[in-house]
Amino acid sequence: CPDTEGALPVLGRDVTVPLVTGGEVSYAALDYAASAPALQRVWDDVAAYAPYYGSVHRGAGYLSQLSTDLFENARRTVAGFLGCRDGDQVVFTRSTTDSLNLLAATLPAGCRVFVFETEHHASLLPWRDADVTFLDAPRTPAQAVETLERALAAREPYGPALVCVTGASNVTGELWPVRELAAAAHAHGARIVLDAAQLAPHHPVSVAGLDVDWVAFSGHKLYAPFGAGVLAGRADWLREAEPYLAGGGASRKVTRRADGGVDVEWHDSAARHEAGSPNVIGAYAIASACKALTEAGFDALVAREEYLIGKVRAGLAEVPQVRILSLFGADAPRVGVLSFVVEGWNSSHFAAALSAEYGIGVRDGLFCAHPLVRTLLGSDPQAQGECGAPEAAPGEKSLNAIRVSFGAGTPNEHVERFVKAVR
Ligand code: PMP
Repeated sequence: CPDTEGALPVLGRDVTVPLVTGGEVSYAALDYAASAPALQRVWDDVAAYAPYYGSVHRGAGYLSQLSTDLFENARRTVAGFLGCRDGDQVVFTRSTTDSLNLLAATLPAGCRVFVFETEHHASLLPWRDADVTFLDAPRTPAQAVETLERALAAREPYGPALVCVTGASNVTGELWPVRELAAAAHAHGARIVLDAAQLAPHHPVSVAGLDVDWVAFSGHKLYAPFGAGVLAGRADWLREAEPYLAGGGASRKVTRRADGGVDVEWHDSAARHEAGSPNVIGAYAIASACKALTEAGFDALVAREEYLIGKVRAGLAEVPQVRILSLFGADAPRVGVLSFVVEGWNSSHFAAALSAEYGIGVRDGLFCAHPLVRTLLGSDPQAQGECGAPEAAPGEKSLNAIRVSFGAGTPNEHVERFVKAVR
């Protein structure tokens, strides 16, 4: 697997950055979990479409008709990519955060929500105004299923419930037992939404195959950084809820009442939650990324990523001061996302050194998953820094870690440089 062989072409490969030691080096983008570079194919598709851009669902002109077709075809492409069932809806949103907030706005009356404390804030916080139970961090995938089953079985009253779970952690990269959690949820009369922000760029995700009720993901983590995201799944809650945003596009008919007020009939389709002029380029870019990943084949993408994960694991194992953060064990299956601390180092300083001395971009901090990182690091003195993470209150020592993440566009050299730099 030499150098870039097998890596998909992405933008930014030619970008060079200055080093404090003098000279320049090509930038090693190893922060895919925050935002992945655009696939060249996505960029080319967007550039080819740009001159034909027009308003969607509004205009009679040729370009408006063309754009409307492309937008609706993008919806179909995403539905195919996600293995949606007949009758499922694909709503274009701004991001995973937006998708989960939208779903939170559709919760039926009396619906209880169950969510592990290990979630990213995007899948933890939208439910905080609901009747929510936060579940303790499990230490094995089987424990996750048992914990959920116990909590669902004990709920009183035994009414409607929703489980929200991530497919792959943005901190540890570990894969969660989604299929088993979905089966547990359904066995207990609950529904489940999958936060696939970190899973979808690395593994195939099938709504029908995993038997989840909804999936949420972000275009910018799927090599399509144009400001769009997706919520896909069951139509009933979406159709019955008030529109997430009120405005044009979501409304089928608006009339003035005799008493001077206004009556509205909302659309039943995905448009109900897409008020305003939609992000056509974003949706088109996501569809292009879905096609590119499907054509490249997830078998090949996963095999290559496994190779890179193996290189990182083996390289870090040679450095005794490094401790990899993990809930399910350092060897647990994961995507190309891995967080660690280094004995004797403040993580922020370490990440800054990787950037300044090696041209490597990683992330440091608590990764918008404060409860999880606190659980993983809480008792670990290696993780304490004198400064760094902005989450620390004044006078408090900060907790932070370093995260390296990569994907389909990562050349081998970036990972090799990272391992050498840590050594
Ligand atoms: N869920 C997970 C697991 C994530 O990693 C992220 C982004 N780091 C999000 C949700 C939120 O994604 P976005 O910022 O695109 O809304």
